[in-house]
Amino acid sequence: MQGLAAYAAHEATSRGRRYREAPPAYRGEFQRDRDRVIHSSAFRRLVYKTQVFVNHEGDLYRTRLTHSLEVAQIARTIAQALGLNETLVEAISLAHDLGHTAFGHAGQDALNQCMKDYGGFEHNLQSLRVVDELEEKYADFPGLNLTFESREGILKHCSVKNARQLGELGERFVHRTRPGLEAQLSNLADEIAYNNHDVDDGLRAGLLQMDDLRTVRLFGEQHEAVTRRYRDLKGRRLVHEIVRRMIDCVVTDVIVSSGERIASVEPKDIDAVRLSPVALMGMGDVVEPQHLELKKFLNQKLYQHSRVQTMMAKARDIIATLFDAFFDDVGLMPSEFAKTARLMRGEAGDAGQARVVADYIAGMTDRYAISEHERLEEKRRV
Ligand code: MG
Repeated sequence: MQGLAAYAAHEATSRGRRYREAPPAYRGEFQRDRDRVIHSSAFRRLVYKTQVFVNHEGDLYRTRLTHSLEVAQIARTIAQALGLNETLVEAISLAHDLGHTAFGHAGQDALNQCMKDYGGFEHNLQSLRVVDELEEKYADFPGLNLTFESREGILKHCSVKNARQLGELGERFVHRTRPGLEAQLSNLADEIAYNNHDVDDGLRAGLLQMDDLRTVRLFGEQHEAVTRRYRDLKGRRLVHEIVRRMIDCVVTDVIVSSGERIASVEPKDIDAVRLSPVALMGMGDVVEPQHLELKKFLNQKLYQHSRVQTMMAKARDIIATLFDAFFDDVGLMPSEFAKTARLMRGEAGDAGQARVVADYIAGMTDRYAISEHERLEEKRRV
């Protein structure tokens, strides 16, 4: 382990919080950010939100919560090795999916479709909305009032149109500059985490087959190394031994490749990182295509699998039904949402009302969305 590098995010040069606060007595500013994320209600709800498998399919599959913890773990290891700010990268990683809907990407796509005439729905922007506006925790400000650096990391993608509404935080999408290295790292760790845990979950569910996976280089190479060394290894221990070596291979590559890029550019501080013409965090020329090959494989064999697709079609139907019902009659939502929806309708018309409905639906866990759907169906029958 080494100290904080010059090009890392430093609290002393942080761009600060939206609302001024006295500094914490016993913690750093980024620690405070991380702790606020952990204490948020959106964070607790991640435990009942789907990653790939709907929450009630089994207790051993990843949820958004365990996914976020794995992202944080991977990101922290890389941050330590490169002298980056481990606490900041942890805060960003734990918060990165706070705005995700129930039912994984199907839920996000369905809600985006429902919102197409009202500015759309994007889970990344929603994560920012959760920490900036929607969490109701503190007497002095809305949201969690996180530092600029945490918010910069949470907002991974954003359309130029939406970015223009976001002031300083949106500037990088307008001017096409980069975020700090901790933000770049959390994004990479997200990809590494899901690529690997989806192999594990896919095998567990019987949707992926070992023989198929062996044709994918990243898996095939580790499979060969493990079975050569441990001839009798079988079952879960074999799978996990392969997956942990795959993670190790990609993580090591990110550390080496990013270290080389950083050394060649020598950014003197985080602002130099932001202005760098090349992305400084990344995989090398050998591992990156292998990582992308696995990603493509999972897309075809797991996310497009008929069992996953059937479930996703159901999920899309649930989200669309909920949206139409709540938009037609905001009184079907809890009273505080109904009140805000009426208020927003007065301020911004249909789009204002639709945004409140989307906020309500986006906050739902899988099981809550399913039970709300059943409640509405029952109401319709009587
Ligand atoms: Mg994620």
